[in-house]
Amino acid sequence: MLDYRTLLVSLGVSAFCLLLTLLGTWMARRRDGFLLTWVCGLGFIIPGIFSYTYYTQYPFLAIGVVCTSLMLIGFAVIYAAAVQFCRNRAPLKTASQWSLMSIATTATPMAVGYDAVAFISLNVWAASLLFATAFEYWRGRREAVGPLTGMAALYALTGVSFILCAIVLASEGQWILGHAPDNWAENLNIAMSIAGMTGVGAMSLMVQQARITEHHRRESLTDPLTGLHNRRALFELHERQMFTHEMAVIVFDIDRFKSINDQYGHATGDAVIRALAQDLKSAVGLNTTARLGGEEFAAVVRTAAPGYAEWLAERIRRSFADRELCVDGVTVKATVSAGIAYGLPEGQDFETILSAADGALYNAKRNGRNRVEIAPIAAGKQLDGERTSA
Ligand code: GH3
Ligand code: MG
Ligand code: MG
Repeated sequence: MLDYRTLLVSLGVSAFCLLLTLLGTWMARRRDGFLLTWVCGLGFIIPGIFSYTYYTQYPFLAIGVVCTSLMLIGFAVIYAAAVQFCRNRAPLKTASQWSLMSIATTATPMAVGYDAVAFISLNVWAASLLFATAFEYWRGRREAVGPLTGMAALYALTGVSFILCAIVLASEGQWILGHAPDNWAENLNIAMSIAGMTGVGAMSLMVQQARITEHHRRESLTDPLTGLHNRRALFELHERQMFTHEMAVIVFDIDRFKSINDQYGHATGDAVIRALAQDLKSAVGLNTTARLGGEEFAAVVRTAAPGYAEWLAERIRRSFADRELCVDGVTVKATVSAGIAYGLPEGQDFETILSAADGALYNAKRNGRNRVEIAPIAAGKQLDGERTSA
């Protein structure tokens, strides 16, 4: 059977391995600051565990104060990392607040010789901070249900093992021990902490993997220049939808954009594209807006009132034409044309409506640009093959 000190050393080593894993993960993706906070938490817990190992052999009160304080700071920082992960809140205030409170109620009895009281306080604080950490991961579990629920469960179980330590110590009724607590609950606590540390390490990697996958998915659906949905996202959102007469697609294309690029340069052209994207985003609101490519955009709108799509497209056209864009000290003016297509009462598929709106846009270009045209009802059927690009 392994003795208590060997178990403590194993716990310290598994905490160190978890620290290395989290540090490596953070270095690969530095935007996840909570990982670094978590590493800092372990950076306190590990010396806390080793100094406690020393205390089990040489139970000086000063060492007791140091090891309990280090562990409490560690637990408070780990809780702050969970808050940072789930609520995106800066960790310093949470960590320092809970560290100070827990140290005040633990180090004081230890310093005056009531070591058992200090250990009860340590166990109660550790359990509370672990339960709070478990609750944070449970609350944020939507991001990666399996691993985050697993992490919450492991933190909670480790918290239970600390509570058992507190109960056993309190039930012994001794307030001064003169040595480290040594009972079945302490052994269970160490075993649970090693299991928890290993499990949490594995699950944190799964959470990180889920985050990276989601990040790539979002990137693949976002247009980098404007931050709007891209063509793929537009189709993913609407390709299986049937468009009734209460829905419309508006397609926009900046007029004579090539000459803007030629006259002012590509960077200015980009600024014009971003300006129209901004106008669309604020005018179209919760409806879908996407950059189809180049200087072409599409908006999918639910037209609560008849004529709403025309009114909206006309408003965007007019405000863009009135706008004076100042790029690098040069004033640029541009106009935009738009084509609108409504769905049918019995429903119409997205691709047909989009190509009908595209046809109406082509008419707007042919009729002089800087204008809005509406596709005839069921234009998708009528315009088949007429046009593919403005
Ligand atoms: P029209 O009024 O008929 O639409 O004329 P146009 O000059 O706008 O013609 P067209 O739509 O074919 O021109 C699109 C141009 O947009 C061609 C391409 O060089 C330019 N372009 C495509 N993507 C970008 C981009 O990301 N940035 C910039 N600055 N230009 C782009
Ligand atoms: Mg154009
Ligand atoms: Mg174009």
